[in-house]
Amino acid sequence: RVITTINAQPGVVKQFPPTEKLLTTQQKRILVTGGAGFVGSHLVDRLMRQGHIVYALDNFFTGRKENVEAWIGHPNFELIHHDVVNPYMIEVDQIYNLACPASPPHYQYNPVKTIKTSVEGTLNMLGLAKRTKARVLLTSTSEVYGDPEVHPQSETYHGRVSITGPRACYDEGKRVAETMMYAYKKQDGVDIRVARIFNTFGENMHPDDGRVVSNFIIQALQGKDITIYGDGKQTRSFQYVEDLVSGLVKLMNSDYDGPVNLGNPDEYTIREFAEMIVQMVGTKSKIVHLPSTQDDPSRRKPDISLAKRVLGWEPKVHVRTGLERTIEYFRHELERTGKFSPI
Ligand code: NAD
Ligand code: UDP
Ligand code: UDP
Repeated sequence: RVITTINAQPGVVKQFPPTEKLLTTQQKRILVTGGAGFVGSHLVDRLMRQGHIVYALDNFFTGRKENVEAWIGHPNFELIHHDVVNPYMIEVDQIYNLACPASPPHYQYNPVKTIKTSVEGTLNMLGLAKRTKARVLLTSTSEVYGDPEVHPQSETYHGRVSITGPRACYDEGKRVAETMMYAYKKQDGVDIRVARIFNTFGENMHPDDGRVVSNFIIQALQGKDITIYGDGKQTRSFQYVEDLVSGLVKLMNSDYDGPVNLGNPDEYTIREFAEMIVQMVGTKSKIVHLPSTQDDPSRRKPDISLAKRVLGWEPKVHVRTGLERTIEYFRHELERTGKFSPI
């Protein structure tokens, strides 16, 4: 179903991406907090294409209107400027609670606000879910495992998180958010889902996001030094955003309400990852080492047997394929914003 509408510019007709036509009984009203962010915008796109009514709520701390530009003006879509630390009233069937900065430089910029966003934000979304009887999904994180002694990490591992270090505002915020989800389920029968997301990358990441994938790609595209923090022997396992979105939607619509890891077990040292990006971009950039950051987890890899079993989900996109698309996206972004200096 293709819908067109009159754009803000007089005489210009905007054509939206096609959406499924759902029966009224199948069409859900869905709130996505953090809907203008990296993951949120891809989720909004998927849910809109499926034919649902989508409310993207965001305070635009790290999110951008451009990320959901394609849907602005569509009759099924609404973009709401709101901060989740403040109560919010709306009538919905499902809530995906993503609002929270996810990149270390952004979540450490104002640690108190990061804690409030996870704690008060999740509390408000749980209050909303309780009142409306909506199902609510929290995007928790592999960071709840901290610097793990167990490898790979499965949902039964309780983690090793610093209580006071620079990452604690994010890690502990998410841990208490998970605890609140289970407390509201127990006490008030709120219908909850919890995803523990491992490192994810793809289009719509902010060029100044500060996480490793965007940093390395932009440095490579600009011919600048590739900055490895520490010796580069630490590992991460990288998932392409399309796979994550499939997992989130499957989890939301499944019967399983325990925490579920969503990630790609394809594990790389940061050094290997830097070399792969240098080779893929074909850059002359040098790889340099900067001091390591405090409490940087030394390794991370999801055990996804639970997701396979209860959701029938596993990642389908190879890291290299995802990286090719992401490199193209950043090349285009740098050209668009005039920051591209050809190598
Ligand atoms: P992001 O920073 O691109 O998106 C977060 C969004 O939330 C942004 O649009 C931001 O403006 C919004 N936001 C932040 N604070 C808010 C507030 N107080 N009120 C309303 N909106 C607010 O990050 P992302 O990678 O898209 O992450 C989305 C979610 O997934 C986060 O909850 C994050 O913790 C989780 N997650 C992501 C990853 C990953 O690798 N991308 C890994 C684990 C968990
Ligand atoms: N809340 C909200 N939207 C709603 C319902 C509740 O933002 O539609 C908020 C509410 O303001 C409160 C939080 O969610 O801060 C938790 O709500 P709950 O009903 O559990 O707690 P109470 O209001 O009784 O303290
Ligand atoms: N990292 C790096 N250089 C960068 C950005 C990150 O070496 O420019 C490292 C970082 O120290 C960590 C890994 O890459 O070991 C992943 O960092 P990111 O910030 O992407 O996510 P994290 O998993 O640490 O939350």
